Amino acid sequence: MLLTGTGRLAPAGLSPWALVVRDGRIGWIGAPRDAPADDERVDLGGALVTPGLVDSHTHPVFAGDRSDEAASRLEGQPYTDGGILRTVRATRAADDASLEALLEARLRSALAAGTTTVECKSGYGLSLDEELRHLRIIERVAERLPLRIIPTFLGAHAVPPEHAGMAEYAAHVADDMIPAVASAGLASFVDVFADAGFFDAGATERIGRAATAAGLGLRLHADQLELTGAAQLGVGLGAASVDHLEQLDAEGVAALAGSSTVATLLPGPATVLRDRMPPARALLDAGATVALASDANAGTFGAFGAMPLVIGLGATRLGMTVTEALVAAARGGARALRRPDLGVLEVGGAADLVAWDADHEGAFALRLGNVRPLRTWIGGVEIDASGRTMDA
Ligand SMILES: [Zn+2]
Repeated sequence: MLLTGTGRLAPAGLSPWALVVRDGRIGWIGAPRDAPADDERVDLGGALVTPGLVDSHTHPVFAGDRSDEAASRLEGQPYTDGGILRTVRATRAADDASLEALLEARLRSALAAGTTTVECKSGYGLSLDEELRHLRIIERVAERLPLRIIPTFLGAHAVPPEHAGMAEYAAHVADDMIPAVASAGLASFVDVFADAGFFDAGATERIGRAATAAGLGLRLHADQLELTGAAQLGVGLGAASVDHLEQLDAEGVAALAGSSTVATLLPGPATVLRDRMPPARALLDAGATVALASDANAGTFGAFGAMPLVIGLGATRLGMTVTEALVAAARGGARALRRPDLGVLEVGGAADLVAWDADHEGAFALRLGNVRPLRTWIGGVEIDASGRTMDA
């Protein structure tokens, strides 16, 4: 298939452009006059075309609604009995069919907004049976959607009330839950909420080592609520990504810049929580790999399908250029998921592409989220508006 356009192929800014898709991958990119002949041609006119977006941080398996809690928090009246454990209660009470329907609707929203790869965390179950149930629901929904879905086990999201304390529950996560999840083949990564009031350095290290021993990658929620040094701990444990980083200091920036651990920034929840923004400019200037992701979840940022907005927030609130924000939401997210073949428009990369209702990537900042895909391809196969592959 030969795709051509007279508009911009971003982030490189090639215009006019031509791109050949072979076996789901990009086989050639260049100027239309140099393009090899191909029987199947698609002309995208003046539309902006980018890599499919990669949302490397979401929590989409949950039931219940905490909008009332968000409103109370913004009135300065924190909810008693709210937070993650409120969602855990509602999610444990929901049957498989309801959770599958909720998850599928959220992922279809993401796809309809230009996300072609999405990481999905468990973590609202917090018992072995419930976490396995949620990961199996992710696996079943992944089978019927064309999205690329990468599952993460987040048993260490909070300490459930039936456990004696953080250290005891962390030992259960490390010794019992991770081996069970790994042997069932239900997750690629393990995540830990490594922050004040959740899992301390000792617990995080124990869980991280269990993940490595089980052959799973590691990612951490780090330095969101307080500066704890969790970013450096993640670097030391070989984490693929440390996420949030609102409180990160210069030492943390330097540690990330000298490592292969990606700094994943989440301006959505930082906005809803009226928190400070992470030091994106310092991370980029120091040479760290930066990803932008949604952190769509039950309690602090409820917008699935928000990656265009996240790019806009990166450019308007984090001091990134629009191109830096777009790269972070595609290539950066792919690097955070250890999939360097995704999120890039280059020969050999996956043919995941989005043609947008815009002429220039500056629209992500100017329209602050209100940029929509016109056409989407995943692995060289076009996806229709209902999220089905066009030839299926
Ligand atoms: Zn999160």
